[in-house]
Amino acid sequence: MLKLENVNKTYTEHQALDDINVTFNPGETTVIVGPSGSGKSTLLRSLNLLEHPETGAYTIDDRKIDFSQPITKETLLWIRRKTGMVFQQPRMFDHLTVMGNMIEAPVHVLKQSKTDAKANAHDLLKQVGLDEMADRYPYQLSGGQTQRIAIARALAMHPDYLLLDEPTSALDPEIEAQILRILKRLAEQQASMIIVTHNMEFAKNAADRMIFLEDGAIKFDGTPDEFFNHPTDRINRFLNAYK
Ligand code: ATP
Ligand code: MG
Repeated sequence: MLKLENVNKTYTEHQALDDINVTFNPGETTVIVGPSGSGKSTLLRSLNLLEHPETGAYTIDDRKIDFSQPITKETLLWIRRKTGMVFQQPRMFDHLTVMGNMIEAPVHVLKQSKTDAKANAHDLLKQVGLDEMADRYPYQLSGGQTQRIAIARALAMHPDYLLLDEPTSALDPEIEAQILRILKRLAEQQASMIIVTHNMEFAKNAADRMIFLEDGAIKFDGTPDEFFNHPTDRINRFLNAYK
């Protein structure tokens, strides 16, 4: 379980997160939507401790962290390991092959043997349909391939929660569909995912739960059926922008 209680994050003058209270359950796929600047990335980055909110509490498993206190390096690394992040524009180590990139963290952080890490990497690359790319270098990959490898690389760390921040928004629609199919399959395998996306079709098909953020606050937290089929006036206006 991941839980945020009374979480606030301010950038200079701007309150990016305004008293966030939310619990993410294991095995659930949560889709976070909302207007640009509503705090979606800040929320996701706070779950991975890439941001440090000023106040509030973060509970993960049985461990409760008070954001108003300094966070130890040990806690930070532990949380980073529990929550794998996939970015909109993933970065890879340019001097390493795809395989090198895949096994880097499993070998150095999880202390897996190279043999085990490679075997696992091959399985994951197969899952995203790219096992034949193992010996390529990052510059030899398309944007869609890079993103699929970023997903496989995050999964190689066996995170309890996979966090994805607009993983397909830099891609063309056909490639986007391909990646969303991979994510849908992951969601069906009971993976715990929290995904920020503008793709409402994906949200409708894959979400167990929808969260709507506006002005740093959660304005809706419920089922996709309620969100799409019985929207409030505000959500209706938001959804109409996608039609
Ligand atoms: P988008 O859909 O455009 O990605 P978002 O919902 O992810 O938007 P955030 O990136 O979380 O929004 O930003 C929330 C608010 O905080 C915005 O008003 C943004 O300008 C502000 N903000 C984000 N990062 C910083 C920063 N490093 N310094 C100052 N303000 C920031
Ligand atoms: Mg964002």
